[in-house]
Amino acid sequence: MTLRDVPVNRCIVAIDVGGTEVKSALVYGNPKDARPVLSQRRATPKLADPRATSAAVIDLVVELTEQLGRQSEHPLDALGLVVPGIVDDEAGVGVYSANLGWRDVPFGTILAERTGLPVAFGHDVRAGGLAEARLGAARGLSDAVIAPIGTGIAAAIMLGGRMHAGGGLAGELGHMNVGHELTCACGATGCLEVVASASAVARRYSTRSGRPVHGSAEVAEAMQRGDADAIKVWREAVEALTTATAMLATVLSPEAVIFGGGLAMARDLLLNPLRARLSETLTFQRMPDLRIAQLGSDAGCLGAALLAMDMLEERTPRHTRTMARGRLYPRTKPEPFRGTH
Ligand SMILES: [Zn+2]
Repeated sequence: MTLRDVPVNRCIVAIDVGGTEVKSALVYGNPKDARPVLSQRRATPKLADPRATSAAVIDLVVELTEQLGRQSEHPLDALGLVVPGIVDDEAGVGVYSANLGWRDVPFGTILAERTGLPVAFGHDVRAGGLAEARLGAARGLSDAVIAPIGTGIAAAIMLGGRMHAGGGLAGELGHMNVGHELTCACGATGCLEVVASASAVARRYSTRSGRPVHGSAEVAEAMQRGDADAIKVWREAVEALTTATAMLATVLSPEAVIFGGGLAMARDLLLNPLRARLSETLTFQRMPDLRIAQLGSDAGCLGAALLAMDMLEERTPRHTRTMARGRLYPRTKPEPFRGTH
């Protein structure tokens, strides 16, 4: 796709900071139809001192923004940035990241000053969920849980069409107690992600069989060959996910639960047994539709762009906003940055 094929209402630099990679993209479009053009990945800078890590991440975000800005055919409207961990979206603060070590970093304010752009700041998983809700597997739904299953398990919880942040702490699905005796890195026992994350499935299979594997996809393959260790480990993961999904169905009654990340690459090998066990488990609850996420590793960047587009939409006066939905959107200068983002 060339830049010219995409209808441009907004032009956003979107950046998704992950534990190992920083993904960046120029995203063109509007809050209902956003598409990435020009994307690239870089290794996440990690230094011994967490403050040095956050400073290096900020430098990299500024560098990527300048680079994509130079390559863009249109002036940049905003920067959308998402990070992992505990995130205060409103204040634009990265409160805590276990993986990257930082505490209370005011990304929004610093990056608005350094780039001169309005900055939308958010949480990687919630932003990815927002992208799935607008552009992917949860489109058209108002109540859904979107859960990437990778190194850990987190979830974006959409209720009544809005992402529920719970002060930055909602959606920690991986730490639901599903009733086993193993200890989690969080200090509790029984956590879902100890047996059902993609990493856990790979690790538990390797330990049990003595055959090292690189990821859960290899366990799924072994299971299809009839490998007894793979079948057992997979079954335990499905059982734990059934318990967790039943709790979600009981408490939130979502229309759908959407799985992404490494474990979801197994598609029907995950969904079919989970669907079967869940329908045996639920009694009166609404059976959620179980689906696989559609946007893959682009979800975070697209979500970051949508946060930025939503922020610009809110700042646009109402009469201009109506026109913005049509094709005749007049390009106005962005309002000067004033908020705390
Ligand atoms: Zn835990």
